[in-house]
Amino acid sequence: MEKICVAIRVRPPKTEEDSNGSYWKVDDNRISLHKPLGTPISGVSYAFDHVFDQSCTNSRVYQLLVKNIIEAVVEGFNGTAFAYGQTSSGKTFTMNGSEGDPGVVPLAVRDIFEKIQMTTDREFLIRVSYMEIYNEEINDLFAVENQKLPIHESLERGIFVAGLREEIVNSAEQVLELIKLGEGLTPAEWLSIDLLHTYCVCKCIMDFFFSVFIRTAVNRHFGETNMNARSSRSHTIFRMVIESKGKDTNSCNGYSHSDAVRVSVLNLVDLAGSERIAKTGAGGVRLKEGKYINKSLMVLGNVINKLSDGVKQRGHIPYRDSKLTRILQPALGGNAKTSIICTVAPEEVHVEESKGTLQFASRAK
Ligand code: ADP
Ligand code: MG
Repeated sequence: MEKICVAIRVRPPKTEEDSNGSYWKVDDNRISLHKPLGTPISGVSYAFDHVFDQSCTNSRVYQLLVKNIIEAVVEGFNGTAFAYGQTSSGKTFTMNGSEGDPGVVPLAVRDIFEKIQMTTDREFLIRVSYMEIYNEEINDLFAVENQKLPIHESLERGIFVAGLREEIVNSAEQVLELIKLGEGLTPAEWLSIDLLHTYCVCKCIMDFFFSVFIRTAVNRHFGETNMNARSSRSHTIFRMVIESKGKDTNSCNGYSHSDAVRVSVLNLVDLAGSERIAKTGAGGVRLKEGKYINKSLMVLGNVINKLSDGVKQRGHIPYRDSKLTRILQPALGGNAKTSIICTVAPEEVHVEESKGTLQFASRAK
């Protein structure tokens, strides 16, 4: 069993006034709670495989946590990298990156194609798919009509999402273009738009009756609970399936008969925000979303916790308790390679959530 690699990444503070105000101090691979520029706050200090402070680039995160997974995947092993953390802590930044600092997904895609080009003795077939899990329902991000897809299992294919669109791809550019298309509107986002309409109607009426003070208060509340509308409430899984077989220049059809086909899967997962629902004071739809998210993240924690125990103590691994872990089952455990990047917001208001993230991370070690 491969050891699961666990890292913490603290994002830069958002505002000028917070700029020297990180509540987390990073020393090598240790992170501790600290008054900004002052004394440590006792009792909260953890060590991980890696801890990155706010100056760290996506490229460094990739080099230390994902590059080895990519190498293994090209050689025929399965691999998964997760971003875990509360909304606005930097999960999507880590996975997708920005113009000047591409994230784990584009770096991985480029690296895979580079490695394949260098492997001249094998022929490769690469397929990609992109899905979200929203309220325990699987939706296809490459084909909006594919909603609520079921998970099936067969001898031939193992565990798979039935009906999920898979695109055969030949270049990194093609994959990155597909991902951009896939990030259009999704059901979760449509729902936010519905709520936005309802909100706008209510707000017009309120504007009429109430003062500017109340309006700004409502605005802020709305903004916070709808922060990063889609990505904060669904898990997204970007998947590459890499199939290869050895070329045999001596045989008449160009393929070696002795070399079996290798199939491996890479999953890059941007998890739903890990914040507890009580904090957002959500009701109705939000409450339902929160329950599903909390449950699936808890199951993921349990699965990873069991996997990181020795084989003897492990016992039953509850893959079937959530869609997320069920889909990822073949690429977790065994000789699959796994990295978890836990993102932490540096501000004081987020200290309690950040502690929760560090606790999740330490259970995964
Ligand atoms: P999440 O996906 O966890 O909700 P985001 O990745 O969207 O959070 O990050 C929230 C905001 O912080 C975004 O505006 C993002 O660009 C910014 N951000 C996050 N991490 C970093 C970082 N390491 N460096 C610079 N900006 C960051
Ligand atoms: Mg996000």
